[in-house]
Amino acid sequence: MWDLLVKGGRLLDPADDRDGVADLAVHRGRIVEIADTLDERSAAETVDATGLLVVPGLVDIHAHLSPGTGYWGLDPETLAWRTGVTTWVDAGSVGAFGLSGLRALTRPTELTITALINVSSIGIPGETGEHHDLANLDVDLAHRVAAAHGDFVSGVKARIDRRTVGDHGIEPLRRGLDLAERLGRPLMVHVGYGPPTITEILPLLREGDLLTHCASGSPDDLLRDGRVNPVVLEAAQRGVRFDLGHGSGALDFEVLEAELAAGIRPTISTDLHAVSAHGPAFDMPTVMEKMLAVGWTLEEVVRAATIAPAQSLGLAAGTLGVGARADIAIFDVTAEDHPVVDVHRQQRTSPARLRNVLTLAAGAPLTEKAPARSAPWVPRSPAQRTAEHETFTELRQSTTPRLHAATDFPEPYPRATGRGATDKE
Ligand SMILES: [Zn+2]
Repeated sequence: MWDLLVKGGRLLDPADDRDGVADLAVHRGRIVEIADTLDERSAAETVDATGLLVVPGLVDIHAHLSPGTGYWGLDPETLAWRTGVTTWVDAGSVGAFGLSGLRALTRPTELTITALINVSSIGIPGETGEHHDLANLDVDLAHRVAAAHGDFVSGVKARIDRRTVGDHGIEPLRRGLDLAERLGRPLMVHVGYGPPTITEILPLLREGDLLTHCASGSPDDLLRDGRVNPVVLEAAQRGVRFDLGHGSGALDFEVLEAELAAGIRPTISTDLHAVSAHGPAFDMPTVMEKMLAVGWTLEEVVRAATIAPAQSLGLAAGTLGVGARADIAIFDVTAEDHPVVDVHRQQRTSPARLRNVLTLAAGAPLTEKAPARSAPWVPRSPAQRTAEHETFTELRQSTTPRLHAATDFPEPYPRATGRGATDKE
């Protein structure tokens, strides 16, 4: 007897070269069988996925977790259940000083969570500036702390832009590389307004290291005269990986389209945090719709949001293969042209909407959890404020029952009619 059967859905699993209608059985948190038809009498529970898209639980390798401990953090459980993301990587919110705290916060969840340790011991408590005091970039310390947390640390993060590095130029990047080398893990480098410039940063990255915010409009040298900077192509050829990291400032459709035309295939990540969750990033399905809008197929989009990011950080996730952890995301995909925007108010048209209808982590459906109200320091436009207000108004009303008819309620404990009354009287 299986615990669960997902029946009749379109299984799309690029890792397994699978795309077609099939049934999928789950037992003890793992995927145990896939076939054209499986008997629902052999399952304790069946999910009818007819007409729906069934993909591996999504893998977001750039987000900021640990809510309530700094400027950027948010709670992944408020997003996972309605967006299909079952594997989350915190991209450098904490360094050596905060790693235990992040791990404790993320431990009770069904989600798979790992961290990229920030090369700066203080992590990213504020908006920026974590590399201003090089005394915080103690590679020996970060190495000792990271090593003590084993696989919870899936890599190293360093934000390298003018405001984070202060007067220290490329030195924080060198220390990040040193730490990554010692841990035998990849380094994810964030870029923004330089210096340091892309031309200074990219030649230092190793095969397997990641450039996040790869389609940002902030570094003025990702493109040259509208074409991809040769150092970008050279890095791609050496095996440096490109990651989207949409965030609140890092998606420029013109940069993205130039990179795609040059053959770069980025992984899709949200850089979701306290600001970008209010849009225009919003969540993983929204960012995936933007990749459809620039011409990727659904298969390409799912690959770049599942197995590709999982492999880039060596995570055991991103596939529906038999034996895999039963992390499963089910979507209603509707063909519907609608506008999507980047962070510079440029629009494209997405040909489809991706609505998550169910998310399973290790075979268990994730339960609903409302988001917290945004913190007072989160900048929001009037439209975003209104949207947030309306969301909470709807939430309050929808969680209050509005039933009045007597027949709307069961009577689990019928009143005793006594005196030997029977149904027939
Ligand atoms: Zn980030």
